Amino acid sequence: MIRAGHEAVTMHRRHRISADVLKAAVSPAAYYADHLPTMPPPRRGGWVPGGLCPFHNDHNHGNFRVNLDSGGYTCFACGARGGDILAFHRAHFGTSFPDTVQELAERYLTRVGGVSDET
Ligand SMILES: [Zn+2]
Repeated sequence: MIRAGHEAVTMHRRHRISADVLKAAVSPAAYYADHLPTMPPPRRGGWVPGGLCPFHNDHNHGNFRVNLDSGGYTCFACGARGGDILAFHRAHFGTSFPDTVQELAERYLTRVGGVSDET
């Protein structure tokens, strides 16, 4: 009878947050502002310049782009690409999927009340 209860229960256990909940709570704009120091301040959503690519020895702005709606990223020079901030984080830091979810949850979900920091 009760089918929808599982998600709510897992959310309350510290280390068992789902990737979907995490992605809904962490804005790609906030994440990339933290992780891409060379990214110019975005003026809109969608695909925007991401600054220098962190996946190769990049010297030219313009190759690396991030999507502030989906969290996706792509580099026209080295071919690095992914569909969301979890993919970026895993590729950048070499962490496993569960570790990535946990790391980002611990870093961002404690300040969920302040997710409106949009620069
Ligand atoms: Zn690259």
